[in-house]
Amino acid sequence: MKKGLIFNIQRYSLHDGPGIRTTVFFKGCPLKCQWCQNPEGIDTDVELFRHNQKCIHCGSCMTHCHEKAIDLTDSGPLVNRQACNRCMECVDICPTGTLEMAGKEYSVNEVVQAALKDILIYEESGGGVTISGGEPLLQYEFLLELLLALKKLNIHTAIETSGYCSWEKIKEISKITDLIYYDLKLIDDNSSRIFTGASNILIMDNLERLVISGANIVVRMPLIPSVNDTRDNIEHTAGYLSSIGVKCIELLPYHNLGSVKYEGLDLECPFNYRPNSELIRQASVIFEANGIYITSEG
Ligand code: SF4
Ligand code: SF4
Repeated sequence: MKKGLIFNIQRYSLHDGPGIRTTVFFKGCPLKCQWCQNPEGIDTDVELFRHNQKCIHCGSCMTHCHEKAIDLTDSGPLVNRQACNRCMECVDICPTGTLEMAGKEYSVNEVVQAALKDILIYEESGGGVTISGGEPLLQYEFLLELLLALKKLNIHTAIETSGYCSWEKIKEISKITDLIYYDLKLIDDNSSRIFTGASNILIMDNLERLVISGANIVVRMPLIPSVNDTRDNIEHTAGYLSSIGVKCIELLPYHNLGSVKYEGLDLECPFNYRPNSELIRQASVIFEANGIYITSEG
């Protein structure tokens, strides 16, 4: 049976769907949104993550690494990512958890067992399991098996998707999952290519087909300063949603809590604006003036 690569299983989530939920983060994403706050969710393979503040400078990782990919500095281990072959032996050897593996393989049954720990909480709160990422549909076969297994147990499921996948795949998933959170980031294709690394044509096409199919969708828009918060983009988004029969949208505030993760992966953080809570209020006013109502998060 196929295994899935997952970088986090988070219990007691309050913002990823109705009730109290377990959120399962699938690793790997076809987009590269500049503001991504889960950079460990982008790469489709396991990665070595550094928490240098935990390092006690014992030197074990450096002496153990066969590829000589680690140099020990005053601020902790420095990893030569070109030399590192991701064997993860240094993770096992490190006594303090400074070096960590981002991404781990799970069987469907292992994820189901993790979810079952909170079955009573789901029942009491109206919660369930949300599959997030990364992009869950990138691991389609595993996603399908997992959703079917959860459905058999009558556990409510939701997925959070960019919609950047084939219609056949998202159509099949929409028949099984109870709820789809669908990200609509940019309405202009050129801007989409610049800021997310991908065209939005497929994304919008899939959204329109899902609406026609009657799938249970919540359209969401992460509001990103200086990217999609302009009046022009919001008015165009509202006009587009009206034209395809969507009446409401959920706005997600931008935050930069994940910027420290880029350092842990030795990646350059491409985007680091200060969060501005006013943006949500301003955008809500424009959406509502254009006939699109705002739903609250989660
Ligand atoms: S993952 Fe393997 S190759 Fe990479 S730094 Fe650690 S021990 Fe060296
Ligand atoms: S093994 Fe861990 S604690 Fe020791 S030097 Fe390497 S990163 Fe630091």
